[in-house]
Amino acid sequence: MREFQGKRVVDDVSLQVEQGQVTCLLGPSGCGKSTTLRIIAGVDRQDGGDLLVDGEMIASDALHTPPEGRSIGLMFQDFALFPHLSVEDNVGFGLHGAKSKKRARAGELLERVGLTGYAKKFPHQLSGGEQQRVALARALAPRPRIMLMDEPFSGLDNRLRDGIRDDTLEVLKDEGTAVLLVTHEPDEAMRMADNIALMRDGRIVQQGAPYNVYNAPMDKAAAAFFSDINVISGKVQGALTETPFGQFLAPGVPDGGQVEIIIRPQHLRIDFDRAGQGPRPTPQDGAPARGTVTRARFMGRESLVEFRMDFDDLILRATVPGVFLPKPDTVLWLSLRRDRCFVFAA
Ligand code: ADP
Ligand code: MG
Repeated sequence: MREFQGKRVVDDVSLQVEQGQVTCLLGPSGCGKSTTLRIIAGVDRQDGGDLLVDGEMIASDALHTPPEGRSIGLMFQDFALFPHLSVEDNVGFGLHGAKSKKRARAGELLERVGLTGYAKKFPHQLSGGEQQRVALARALAPRPRIMLMDEPFSGLDNRLRDGIRDDTLEVLKDEGTAVLLVTHEPDEAMRMADNIALMRDGRIVQQGAPYNVYNAPMDKAAAAFFSDINVISGKVQGALTETPFGQFLAPGVPDGGQVEIIIRPQHLRIDFDRAGQGPRPTPQDGAPARGTVTRARFMGRESLVEFRMDFDDLILRATVPGVFLPKPDTVLWLSLRRDRCFVFAA
């Protein structure tokens, strides 16, 4: 727990990171991710709560192990390399012992991050991506038990980022360190994490494998954090709600209660063969419903088609792989993948 000026910015956070695994602390800007990381690193101190590494208490109400005593590696977005030190000396900076030993460990790590031959260069001679890799090597050199990374890729340009993420992940896996990576980008978390801890307003609201967090969000906001969503509202009668796609179960919601059915755009199906004027197609994925195209846009890998449904002027957006650009006012049948719908009390 951590408060600033009486406001609780980290509250009741319980988080476990495992050796050899990447855990992503994912959440919108300002939700308390960096504060949590700083507490774990020991550069900030919690107002309550305990921290343990391998069963050993490193911080509690009574105890504060200084950062350098925690066997923790740190990497931030503005990872500053020391400009006056060579690459090799940057990497060896946190190491103790004989110069030859430090040099050997630095060399080993530079090889690991693909920078053999860069030892004698200086930071200003390297590209952004190369500097990033030096920073990674430097953080890993003392063999930390835990690597803490705070948005380490956000300073890199898009084209570089994917490759560097993958390379970094490979190095971290090789080293077998426990990694806690902070990010506000769901794509990054999905790409890197073994485990995602979704954070909101200082609390961890959901935790699990990327697949589970994406496919079984705990509420509408958790669903919306990962992609654009469609929302179909309905009233409940007898634990059921009526939608243009037929009835949905709304267990536990009392009569007259409101529910929202959430579906991601890629889980809406368009019946390409059948114009909407024809007979109602046989439902394979629940009952189909008719909609009129209001606009269609090509997005590169997929097309985004927006529909106004016959029902209630409901607007739905569907994504279709490749090029599918029906003209506005085209009438089509839509169905939705029921196994990918989430029903939440509103
Ligand atoms: P995130 O990393 O998720 O973007 P932070 O942990 O940096 O969020 O911040 C969480 C909240 O705590 C924000 O509202 C921020 O303004 C506030 N905060 C962070 N550090 C301090 C500080 N040293 N003093 C006062 N408020 C702070
Ligand atoms: Mg932050």
